[in-house]
Amino acid sequence: MKKQTLTAILLLSMLSVPAVADEGMWIPLLIEKYNISLMQENGFKLTAEDIYSINKASMKDAVVLFGGGCTGEFISDQGLLITNHHCGYGSIQRHSTLEHDYLTDGFWAASHEEELPNPGLTVTILKYMEDVTDRVLEGVSDDMDDSKREALINANIVKINAKAIEGTDYLAAVRPFFLGNQYFLIVNEVFQDVRLVGAPPSAIGKFGGDTDNWVWPRHTGDFSLFRVYADKDNKPASWAADNVPYRPAYHFPVSLAGVKEGDFTMVFGYPGRTQEYAPSHHIRMLKDVIYPKQVEIRGKKISIMEQEMAKDPLVRLKYSAKSFGMANGWKKWIGEIQSLDRMNAVERKQAFEKEFAAWVAEEPERIRKYGEIFDQYSEIYNSYQDLYLVNIYTSEVFFSSGAEAVGLAGRFMRAVELASEKNTELDKEIERVKSYVTGFFRNYDPSVDKKLFVAVMDLYGKNIAPEWQAPAYKALYTSCRGDFGSIVDKLYEKSLFTDENRVNALLSKFDAKKVRKDPFYILAQSASELLNDRVRPELTSHNTRLEKLNRLYMAAQMEQGSDRVFYPDANSTLRLAYGKVMGYDSRDAVYHRHQTTLTGVMEKDNPEIYDYDVPDRLRELYEKKDFGRYATTDGDVPVCFIANNHTTGGNSGSPVLNAEGHIIGVNFDRAWEGVASDIMYNPKQSRNISLDIRYVLFLIDKFAGAGYLIDEMTLVGEPQHTP
Ligand code: ASP
Repeated sequence: MKKQTLTAILLLSMLSVPAVADEGMWIPLLIEKYNISLMQENGFKLTAEDIYSINKASMKDAVVLFGGGCTGEFISDQGLLITNHHCGYGSIQRHSTLEHDYLTDGFWAASHEEELPNPGLTVTILKYMEDVTDRVLEGVSDDMDDSKREALINANIVKINAKAIEGTDYLAAVRPFFLGNQYFLIVNEVFQDVRLVGAPPSAIGKFGGDTDNWVWPRHTGDFSLFRVYADKDNKPASWAADNVPYRPAYHFPVSLAGVKEGDFTMVFGYPGRTQEYAPSHHIRMLKDVIYPKQVEIRGKKISIMEQEMAKDPLVRLKYSAKSFGMANGWKKWIGEIQSLDRMNAVERKQAFEKEFAAWVAEEPERIRKYGEIFDQYSEIYNSYQDLYLVNIYTSEVFFSSGAEAVGLAGRFMRAVELASEKNTELDKEIERVKSYVTGFFRNYDPSVDKKLFVAVMDLYGKNIAPEWQAPAYKALYTSCRGDFGSIVDKLYEKSLFTDENRVNALLSKFDAKKVRKDPFYILAQSASELLNDRVRPELTSHNTRLEKLNRLYMAAQMEQGSDRVFYPDANSTLRLAYGKVMGYDSRDAVYHRHQTTLTGVMEKDNPEIYDYDVPDRLRELYEKKDFGRYATTDGDVPVCFIANNHTTGGNSGSPVLNAEGHIIGVNFDRAWEGVASDIMYNPKQSRNISLDIRYVLFLIDKFAGAGYLIDEMTLVGEPQHTP
């Protein structure tokens, strides 16, 4: 697309404002231009500069990318940070043993000295962002061939990044927005010393487990607390005993005032990925082919893990994070299929495409530019969906918590290659593998893995056409006549990769020949060759075509809809969503109110069911009605609330703010009926679920007796109910 055309489109878009305050994940830098008037009309009391500023401390200084895929926010001037329990889960699990089981019992550091370091965990703070589209596209022309275009863009980006971080210790990245029609430079400061401060027991932080996940009404106390440490100059530093709590430029005041239906609310965080502008072909592929297959195989893996976890607390410790991570996607896909169907999403997209095609047909210039978009989509998706499926399914089976010992064997491929080349890098590679192996066996149980092996090998044979199956799998299938149960014990006995001692012995005296003969290594290598030699090259060429087509289609949609403001798909950059606290109709005659309470927790209490076993201490507080200043108007403890903010994965842990910019909640999920909002937001049913901040305060203060943490927060607002 010509640069002039894009500028014209963006200019046109700037003249208009979004009509409603619900759908959209907005760029903080552009709030002033596009959103602030509507936000203020809807009750917001502050300015765009209070949200994002490079001249003064603003809210953006208090919102962080937590690890790689969650959001967190500062709630004290001493680097105290809140995120979800499910975002801190991996860290809490890594510190847990059967003797100190913080997942089960919770953890509260009574002093800074007791806070627990988490090597590898980072917290990223946005310093500033800038539209660099013109600089990225410098020298790019319409008729340039694709590889030249890409090379030029990459070279421009390298220059922009280098200039941005000159003389600083910041990190810079240029990210495409609007599917490559616009580019922003993102400059970050990354902190590496992040310590665990507190977490409620899983019976609170994960209350309701997978049964309640993605569902409203909800009663999960999904939070954990961390603290960011810095060196004496308040700069990022790796862990050191003399690091000090980081002093953020801004931290959120914490509101005791609570929420009511209709209140203005906004969510500021790092949404991961949405696909709002995709063609119907893509939605159909996901809904009818990809998600159903993923649901089936994940469902199988999860049920095996759950059965084994229920039998043995050690297995629970080892597998809980894995099964939880898998179940999150699994359940979401089920909800997505249902909500896409309920909305007739494919048909709606097709109707839009018809309208779009009619608009294209109005002018020869449009026909020239956009006339072939849908024919090309049809042709690409014809073969794309098979490749897409083979790619993800092969990984599910062999490399990501499927047959785990096979996945482990796959980690040795590079070492085998280096050994056969007699490459001096081998020692380094062995060291790398060693550290992986330690973590692997901490969370591994061969008897669980055997069950997983049989299940995923069966499913692979049923779901992947023979021409796309890994050759070593086919050989194994033939040798056991498809009865993997009959050979599993022998295989696990024979393979090196099912036993920590054998793997360690191999690592201390590496023998590539031996590895090459291992049945699991043979499987892993064959699957990986299939992916690398056949599937991925084809997939990449499809993706390259799709990328170009998506960019064109996005530009065309913006040209067609030049009377409205578009928001870019989520891409793990900082965004603002705003809307109102509100309930919804879930189905005929069923209205879901906006708030849940501790009474609801007690209604679900069932010591027989792991996910609903309310801790005694919480039961006691409930019985005594010892709620302090955290209660609702009618004397209950608020637990969660919903609003129509447009959020997605990655928004987990985001601050939910009121009209004054005070934190009223912590975002952690979405309601089932509208969960397809990553693809199509549904104003009637898309609701984000937040933990009410008063429940957090109540738990810290009354349940954990860690009121000293509240002392470092800035509490504001009148409590609804005073004891
Ligand atoms: N619960 C979600 C997640 O962890 C957050 C969301 O998608 O709304 O991914």
